Amino acid sequence: MPVPARLKLTSGFDCVAFGHRLAVTETGIDGAVMIRFDESMNLSAKFASLNDDISSLNSKIRHFGRENSQLENLALTDPLTEVYNRRGFDRELEREFSRANRYGHAFCITLIDLDHFKSFNDTHGHQLGDKVLVHFAHRCLEHLRQTDIICRVGGEEFALILPETSLDQATVVVNRMLDLINATPLYANGEHYAYTASAGLAQQQPDDTPESLYMRTDQNLYAAKNQGRACLVHDPSSSQFETSWSAEAQPQAAD
Ligand code: GH3
Ligand code: MG
Ligand code: MG
Repeated sequence: MPVPARLKLTSGFDCVAFGHRLAVTETGIDGAVMIRFDESMNLSAKFASLNDDISSLNSKIRHFGRENSQLENLALTDPLTEVYNRRGFDRELEREFSRANRYGHAFCITLIDLDHFKSFNDTHGHQLGDKVLVHFAHRCLEHLRQTDIICRVGGEEFALILPETSLDQATVVVNRMLDLINATPLYANGEHYAYTASAGLAQQQPDDTPESLYMRTDQNLYAAKNQGRACLVHDPSSSQFETSWSAEAQPQAAD
């Protein structure tokens, strides 16, 4: 019985085998298959459809690329405040280290921790506590330079990366931020809610790693807490970094 079957030739053309004959001979079996080339012989139609396939694949690749970078951004963002999370901070700090090493520019990081936040939550509720975290992050976004990087690295702890900024310049900027927080309480539900924050600040030294810089900043923050909170503690100003690198530093204006 003839069995129609669709064949794929190595040349890439489709064809239909619609009949065959077999004959048993002395030397074995002889066979013949009749095949019909169908519309696949139309090369230009075939290429046009191939082009369509390629552009559809390209648009799918672009779509997945966009989705991928959206997912990556999500993984680096704190959902409450919409600034970088700890993972985002780690990535940005690594990048700033590379930039600073390449160009020899000074940069600083600061850790800012909200004061007595547990008692704020206990008194006013966790929801209002959340509003304070958002309020703080937005104040930073509004008042720091666009190139400064704001991250929420813990529950009520934030980190700022201040590129191309010397210790003296960063001290002015961070003190101004702490004063601003003090002077402009959160306004919610028809009431003002005051809060304060403490900060530790350190400037990258030539022999620093991201970990050693972070640790020194954290020690300065710890010292600020011990000094009574609502204040800033930074590295000694006569740091080795300043004498060897400061010529490269740009003037800082947090406007
Ligand atoms: P200190 O001045 O020494 O920093 O005191 P503190 O109370 O701020 O520090 P502590 O580490 O004792 O408490 C941190 C508080 O931050 C406790 C926790 O409930 C609160 N917190 C952490 N994450 C969040 C959050 O996402 N939302 C709110 N509302 N509170 C948070
Ligand atoms: Mg705290
Ligand atoms: Mg804390």
